[in-house]
Amino acid sequence: MQTPSSISTLDIDPNLKLVDFDQVTPEQLKAQITEAIDSGNQFLDKLDEQFEQQPDAVVQPQPALTDIIEFDHIGLNLDRSWGILSHLNSVMSNEDIREVHHEMLPLLSAFSTRVGQNKPLYTRYQAIKNDHTFFDALEPARQRAIELAIQSFELSGVALDADKQSDYAEIQSQLSTLSAKFSDNILDATQAYALPLKEEQLAGITESGLAMLKAAAEQYIAKQSETGKSLEDKPEYVATLDIPVYLAVMTHADDRDLRETLYKAYVTRASELDNHKNSKDESLDNSKVMAEILALRAKKSKLLGFDNYAQVSLSRKMADSAEQVESFLRDLAEKATPAAQRDLEQLKAEAANYGIDNIEPWDTAYLAEKVKQAKFKLSQEEIRPYFPLPKVIDGLFSIVSKLFGVRAVEMSDKVSLWHDDVRFYQLFDKNEVGDERLIGGFYFDLYARSGKRGGAWMSGFQARYEYLGASETYSQLPVCFMVGNFTPPTADKPSLLTHDEVLTLFHEFGHGLHHLLTEVSISDVAGVNGVEWDAVELPSQFLENWAWNSEGIALISAHVDSGEPLPKSQLEALLAAKNFQSGMQTLRQIEFALFDLLIHAASPAPDYQGILSTLDQVRDDVAVTPTPDYNRFANGFSHIFAGGYAAGYYSYKWAELLSADAFSRFEEEGVFNAATGQAFRDNILAVGGSLPAKTNFENFRGREASIDALLRHGGFVDDKDGEVA
Ligand code: ZN
Repeated sequence: MQTPSSISTLDIDPNLKLVDFDQVTPEQLKAQITEAIDSGNQFLDKLDEQFEQQPDAVVQPQPALTDIIEFDHIGLNLDRSWGILSHLNSVMSNEDIREVHHEMLPLLSAFSTRVGQNKPLYTRYQAIKNDHTFFDALEPARQRAIELAIQSFELSGVALDADKQSDYAEIQSQLSTLSAKFSDNILDATQAYALPLKEEQLAGITESGLAMLKAAAEQYIAKQSETGKSLEDKPEYVATLDIPVYLAVMTHADDRDLRETLYKAYVTRASELDNHKNSKDESLDNSKVMAEILALRAKKSKLLGFDNYAQVSLSRKMADSAEQVESFLRDLAEKATPAAQRDLEQLKAEAANYGIDNIEPWDTAYLAEKVKQAKFKLSQEEIRPYFPLPKVIDGLFSIVSKLFGVRAVEMSDKVSLWHDDVRFYQLFDKNEVGDERLIGGFYFDLYARSGKRGGAWMSGFQARYEYLGASETYSQLPVCFMVGNFTPPTADKPSLLTHDEVLTLFHEFGHGLHHLLTEVSISDVAGVNGVEWDAVELPSQFLENWAWNSEGIALISAHVDSGEPLPKSQLEALLAAKNFQSGMQTLRQIEFALFDLLIHAASPAPDYQGILSTLDQVRDDVAVTPTPDYNRFANGFSHIFAGGYAAGYYSYKWAELLSADAFSRFEEEGVFNAATGQAFRDNILAVGGSLPAKTNFENFRGREASIDALLRHGGFVDDKDGEVA
């Protein structure tokens, strides 16, 4: 058996299995990945051979478990080599890395399809599960890993009869083609649109907005000349439907007609009202694609023994049923409506100053911005100097130290890093006799640079894992990467964060703690692995609360020059702005989530007209402002038609409920109460995916999750204490 240490590691602590990034090359990773896939295939070949020779042989649970553990152990090499390659591709992309990444992707996807469809492997899991005495004697984490694996196998159609299996494969292949088509159409529709602007249409647009419009104009001119079209006037500014450009216009442009024109173009993309064509002169209309996707998902659900696709999606989530999710969403909508009405009144009062009688959808972002400027006089730029990154990191560490008793120690100069900006830390806590115990390690790669993917994320690169084989033992501690795109430091000033960026750092660190503080050693359910999708954002959203809390802010803020904490007036403005327009925003999210749920719970699956009428109905039920008839939002709803969010868009709000309710225990017992912190650590972070999220949550909270804290934090009920969390 080959061990994962075949990729060179550093001996800082052998259990951390740190990668020597100075030594790693794309060619080496390619060789490792290929080798790991080969070993996996050889193992499966052996299982397949045995199965073909004796298809009816009874598999005993003990040898079955041994096989599964061996196969997991082989998989570790692949996780590691692929993990390094895809990480480098995200943070340090160059030609070599990208080429190897592209080359390896199809191999990896073919291998995971083979694993997911492998009957002999599936029968081994079943043999363990079906022997109750054997199964009941296993540790809970192993039981959970086995149950989740069986569920994955079954959802991938492996348990079906041969003829149904080929139907299933056909459906899957059509679905992936259609999802890709949906994405292509919306992308092409977005790019096909360009609106040259006249000087007088630019009023109100900010400097950075104008810079974007200018860049768009250059692209527009270049594109026109490429396609051989000559332009009489070369426009200096062009509006497009790229989201930053679109928002720059919708938020700031004084020209109401311009906003309406752009809004209409945006919300009719890839619909029957969109006349653009792709480069092959094909229509970009997604109507048929959407109806076919829903029909195929319904068909697939029936094949797998479910009534509808919402059931399939929810079978892997914390929420019990579509009915439960629907009533959660409708309840939240009802409670948020008075706040949304107040938000609307606030916009109406502002509208009068701009001669707007009837607020239309193209006015809301514009008016909201005006109210915000007048009411809060708070600019993210002004508070940046109070949040120098080193101070924020120090404060964050002291917050998690108070809460969870852990200590982060920087060791950047002792390890090899993929870039000079990267920092490495070891995380310690104390054992029973007060000695420091190493828990894991994490890297911060927080500054924007070229070759790095945008946004912020936590990647659970290496899960906690232990292997006790016949001839070898192996163990590794959790290690993760936390990546951001903050402004780099200058020669004389550290990186300065906006409050939004502070929240991002706390959010990712919450994910990181979930990964690092696990006590589970079966990697499939260690840390964030195996955690239901609608619960995985709990620790991350949860930790953000300390960046909204005045004691927390005191720990993370110090003016870069004077060292002063954030002044009281700024702090109050920041806290007051937290719930600005949250009523209307909440209703908007609910509109999307409810629509997504209903079209996937309907049987038979709705056709295009049915899709549109469901959306109309949801808007009638939920929204406080009317939507124009021509709005075809659904035709661009990539999350559910092209992404993985089908019958799962509600997860955003669901996880918010969990994190608000979890935090409310700290509000009751003290936001820095170490015992409450320990309870959160023990019941949520340490167990990760080894128990259902519902069980973990109820163990922590001592009761079922309640919506009350979410309503209070959202400002949807009177907060008796008057304290903003
Ligand atoms: Zn997250």
